[in-house]
Amino acid sequence: MTGTTTVIPQRELVGDDKVGILPKRVNSLALARQLATSLDLQNCDDAFMVADLDHIVDRFNLWKKELPMIEPFYAVKCNTDPVLVRCLAALGTGFDCASREEIDIVMKMGVSADRIIYANPCKTRSFITHAKEKEVRMMTFDNAEELLKISMLHPTAQMILRIAVSDPTATCPLNLKFGCDPELVAPKLLKRAAELGVDVIGVSFHVGSGCNDANAYRLALQHTKNIFEIGEGLGFNMRMVDLGGGFPGAEHHLPFEKIAQVIRNALDEFFEDSSVRIVAEPGRYFAAGTFSLVTNVLHATQVPAFKITKNEKDERVGYMYYLNDGVYGSFNCILFDHVHPSGEPLFSTGGANYITTIWGPTCDSLDMIETKKMMPKMEIGDWIYYSNMGAYTSAAATTFNGFAKPNVVYIMSAEMWTSIRSSPHV
Ligand code: PLP
Repeated sequence: MTGTTTVIPQRELVGDDKVGILPKRVNSLALARQLATSLDLQNCDDAFMVADLDHIVDRFNLWKKELPMIEPFYAVKCNTDPVLVRCLAALGTGFDCASREEIDIVMKMGVSADRIIYANPCKTRSFITHAKEKEVRMMTFDNAEELLKISMLHPTAQMILRIAVSDPTATCPLNLKFGCDPELVAPKLLKRAAELGVDVIGVSFHVGSGCNDANAYRLALQHTKNIFEIGEGLGFNMRMVDLGGGFPGAEHHLPFEKIAQVIRNALDEFFEDSSVRIVAEPGRYFAAGTFSLVTNVLHATQVPAFKITKNEKDERVGYMYYLNDGVYGSFNCILFDHVHPSGEPLFSTGGANYITTIWGPTCDSLDMIETKKMMPKMEIGDWIYYSNMGAYTSAAATTFNGFAKPNVVYIMSAEMWTSIRSSPHV
């Protein structure tokens, strides 16, 4: 990105992606202000993301503190950013991949096949063959047809049975599409696997992304324990529990620490004294807070407030702002991830607050980022800052209407750079 190389010394970590190495940590907001000022001087108004890579280490350390018995396998779908993936690989995480492409992304970083779970219960046949060629063996299933495919295409696969146990209040419940009934269907699938000679090594579940009720993990682990007994009765060496995702990415009314406590208790209750390998597939937990988005106001217009509030008696003045990133870009999370991002002026302008709608840049009126928001008056060329923009944002962003995805400015402390470069894991 123009302008950024002048402020921070750059190093290459993955491909052409350069990382700015800072003598000590700088928070993303402060850095965003510095970068925006530098861009203003060059008449550049492109939106950009700031990726604070030290945040990944903070999250990793918190995970190790709260859930030391669980190996995180990062869910690549959440954000496929190569630098993020490379940092996690250096920290020694495993990876949940849902496709051939995702497997290739992580293997290109030097991640070995035994650190990958192909966690998609309905896999493309050619992708199964590709997994076999790459020696990726751990994969999930939730139906008999998939077992048949595996028996023909990848007979040495180590299958993990995905059960449907969900927190119905989760932000994105996931068991409508995937997961078998743990009581009615799971035993039948285990029998079918035994008939086909397909190896089953464990059970997985996903309580829903953005879990709001930690008891869903306890219930899922209780079912898992029962299914382990049935599997062992059929001669399988049941040895892996995969708790999926659902862990919050940023501050949440159900904090990560509370979920971790419920999981620790449930593991003590159902898997005490066991040599079972416990893994999970956190996505947003690592990605969300790592990225902040800085957008530019490409247009600002005054409107009667009733145009925003729809209250004809509202005689106030309101404003509409149009940003250079929107719902077809990074803010697709509004549609797909049901989040409500809340931006703030990058440079505080003070003054009165006005009722405001913030739009994305495309010609579609679906492209609305925020509405009925009280905020100070902004001018064309001002910057608006959105934190926690790393989960399910860039992964599904398009360039609809010709609006480019934001550049990413990666930053890392010198201390982290040294440890990443000397990591034994990649
Ligand atoms: N594992 C699987 C199978 C998923 O489908 C997902 C998200 O959809 C994840 C893990 C990551 O979930 P989260 O971002 O809630 O951690």
